[in-house]
Amino acid sequence: MHNLTIKQLSDGLRQKKFSSVELTQSALARVEKFNPRLNAFITVTAERALEHARRADARLARGEGGPLTGVPIAHKDIFCAAEVRTTCGSRMLDRFVSPYDATVVAKLQAAGVVSVGKTNMDEFAMGSSNETSYYGPVRNPWDETRVPGGSSGGSAAAVAGRVVPAATGTDTGGSIRQPAALSGIVGLKPTYGRVSRYGMIAFASSLDQAGVLTQTAEDAALLLGAMAGLDPRDSTSVDEPVPDYAAELNKPLQGLKIGLLKEFFDGLEPGNAQAVQAALEVFRKLGASTQELSLPSLPLSVSTYYVVAPAECSSNLSRFDGVRFGHRCEEPRDLLDLYKRSRGEGFGAEVKRRIMTGTYVLSAGYYDAYYLKAQKVRQLIADDFRRAFESVDVLIGPTTPTPAFELGAKVDDPITMYLNDIYTIGANMAGLPALSTPCGFVDGLPVGLQIVGPVFSEARLLNVAHAYQQETEWHTKIPHGYE
Ligand code: GLN
Repeated sequence: MHNLTIKQLSDGLRQKKFSSVELTQSALARVEKFNPRLNAFITVTAERALEHARRADARLARGEGGPLTGVPIAHKDIFCAAEVRTTCGSRMLDRFVSPYDATVVAKLQAAGVVSVGKTNMDEFAMGSSNETSYYGPVRNPWDETRVPGGSSGGSAAAVAGRVVPAATGTDTGGSIRQPAALSGIVGLKPTYGRVSRYGMIAFASSLDQAGVLTQTAEDAALLLGAMAGLDPRDSTSVDEPVPDYAAELNKPLQGLKIGLLKEFFDGLEPGNAQAVQAALEVFRKLGASTQELSLPSLPLSVSTYYVVAPAECSSNLSRFDGVRFGHRCEEPRDLLDLYKRSRGEGFGAEVKRRIMTGTYVLSAGYYDAYYLKAQKVRQLIADDFRRAFESVDVLIGPTTPTPAFELGAKVDDPITMYLNDIYTIGANMAGLPALSTPCGFVDGLPVGLQIVGPVFSEARLLNVAHAYQQETEWHTKIPHGYE
């Protein structure tokens, strides 16, 4: 049963083919079996999960509950979960036990989802390979010498290895879509404000958005429906009705206008380009038309992101000072020594690099030259996208320039690492929803297809991805040894 989708599990639970306790036990057994290889989990909450599964079974026995009741998943360790250790992949929070639930966790729990644990991630979600985690790198089930992508790499590896049918993630510059692409699964980053950020440890608040990693678009639709909506505790969450995403999956694509961004095909590896071209043929067969477009400001998105994101992170991470939050050094001499050593010991190299860059671009004298300029360029990027959506319904292209790379290959070269997100960052800069779905393989490694839409077009993106999945089998492939 471990290779079933959420939809299939949900149907099976209702038909009493298995119970939630059985599903949860099976997921926990797979964690035990595969985690030593994948390192996808930081914390496993077995007892709690079984307790929630028993409750779900009782609800189902009474004929209550919804499509998610009793389904096991995992949460990225960036989401606070009450009375559960929440580390954000950092030594800084190694011993932090959250006193409350993030809204995402609470909403999914209310829908009856059973969380089996917290997944590994790049430290404070800064990374594209899951190698900046204090808890060590995550391995890609398609090739355990390679990265699963990041920062939601633990969630991606857990779903790709069919340890859990789905997991939550967050995406600030690509951290859901990029690992989904590199791990051969579906990743959905919703519109900024669609899902509450309350209780999601902040990296760059104007870019961060919670989403899901799943096997199918249908499963992403089910989970998003339960997670989305206005939250009075997050002033940036939007009061926009939540559609029934699952109900819109089967709309025909006849007449769909697809934009192909010239910028999305620059620097793309030939194997990835071929897979994307083949996917476009599928859409044409389904009655969609394609047209080339250019977003002139898009090539500036990575450099703009690496001003805006570090600026916001330097501010957000100032709370981890060893006093109010986080690791505290032993025997500080005085207050300054306490700050310096607590932060020096608690944060890893990438986080320090970002805090220093961020502090620099926000400092007097540089603020106008860097931060203010970046905000203006960000507006240009958003305007470019808005204009594009005047003539097309969605933009389709690759999610990443290359398939999964070897562990260690880019750790000493931050700029090369940052360029992984060259196709994903634009959507964050403009607050747009975007989805990655598997579209082929290069040398046995999965390739992702990215679909970007205007704000609040999640239903359309899921519909487009679902239609593609009805015509292809890439999303059903399971890595060798994990079947
Ligand atoms: N890889 C990007 C970074 O390192 C994006 C991370 C993310 O989306 N959280 O910042």
